[in-house]
Amino acid sequence: LSGAMTAVTLRVGDLAGEWDRTGLIPRALLRELGAEGRLCAEVPSQYGGWGLSSTDSGAYTAHVGGLCSSLRSVMTSQGMAAWTIQRLGTAEQAATHLPRLTGGELAAVGFSEPGAGSDLSAMTTTVRRDGDTVVVDGHKKWVTAAHYADLLVLVGRQDDGAVAVVVPADAPGVRIERIADPLGCRAAGHADVHLDGVRLPADSVLGGHPLPPALLVTTALAYGRMSVAWGCVGILRACLAAATSHAAGREQFGRPLAEHQLVAGHLADLYTAEQVATRVCEHASRCWDEGSPDQVVATVLAKHVSATQAAQGAATAVQVLASAGSRDGHTVARAYRDAKLMEIIEGSNELCRLMLAQHALSAQG
Ligand code: FAD
Repeated sequence: LSGAMTAVTLRVGDLAGEWDRTGLIPRALLRELGAEGRLCAEVPSQYGGWGLSSTDSGAYTAHVGGLCSSLRSVMTSQGMAAWTIQRLGTAEQAATHLPRLTGGELAAVGFSEPGAGSDLSAMTTTVRRDGDTVVVDGHKKWVTAAHYADLLVLVGRQDDGAVAVVVPADAPGVRIERIADPLGCRAAGHADVHLDGVRLPADSVLGGHPLPPALLVTTALAYGRMSVAWGCVGILRACLAAATSHAAGREQFGRPLAEHQLVAGHLADLYTAEQVATRVCEHASRCWDEGSPDQVVATVLAKHVSATQAAQGAATAVQVLASAGSRDGHTVARAYRDAKLMEIIEGSNELCRLMLAQHALSAQG
């Protein structure tokens, strides 16, 4: 694992700031990382993946998250696509699609629509059966990595349920419209996806039949939540490193910043945030690796705690660096913008709190 981390560190080098400013990661680099299995490290080895446990994959994800949240976001999408195919697809579908995702092709996952953000029960995208084909019509919004993707895993309605369908990005009727000005994770390739009479073979539907929408969405999102949670740990580690080094090195009023107690307090808060997020993620990954029934709630808790700690921690780091961290391209400035978005995606703070409250109530009842 440490070799994999070093390899990705060398590939990112000092380019994360430039990718953030230009809004793009070179596609050739993403393909290269994908072909080495670096973008979906939990895929089992029989499909060309590394077969990492959730705990090891988490450590790797945090490492990438500390280097570049845009790259980590692309990784989250690739991993979530692979997870969805593995969990919902037939053995044949897994054997067809997973080697593509460990072989250099890129993927994205789309649920959100103009009228269906937090409330995915309002999705209107349809996947209509027509003989031995299906026809997809709809509009997906804010799909991370769709700008780079070769294949899209999209969720739509079929009969009374929902299905996930694998859509080639170049299929006739697919139009991908890049979002050029996101607040953060600016190089993650966010895009809207328009689907106009996209006709595909019927076996593009994972598992072949509809599922209850909530079950389908929860299955796919679970992986994304873990990945985002660990990515936030990486953001916190990068912020802690930047803040401690700056506070130890710069003097004001004749002493290092770190010797002013109010600044030391910020460093303590950042360290606490990093530790809390790490522990809650470790617990959730352990639940995944042990197949514990606590896995679902532990995942929501990890995502919620890590995202809120990262948003708060990044703001604290900017405060410690002050003008030194207040320009685009600086690690903490990027972290500040990137971390805020982590409170919105994969279940916003509010939705996570509602789920945690529901769990607390049912646990008492
Ligand atoms: P809304 O649902 O309109 O919510 C607005 C506010 O109201 C939020 O604060 C929300 O928490 C709150 N709210 C809504 N309902 C309730 C309620 N019942 N109780 C309390 N508060 C509530 N989607 C994808 O499908 N695939 C992706 O890869 C993807 N990547 C994304 C990447 C980024 C950077 C961003 C910003 C979004 C991405 N999304 C993606 C979309 C994301 O999933 C949605 O933005 C998210 O679900 C929230 O939906 P919304 O933006 O429409 O907000």
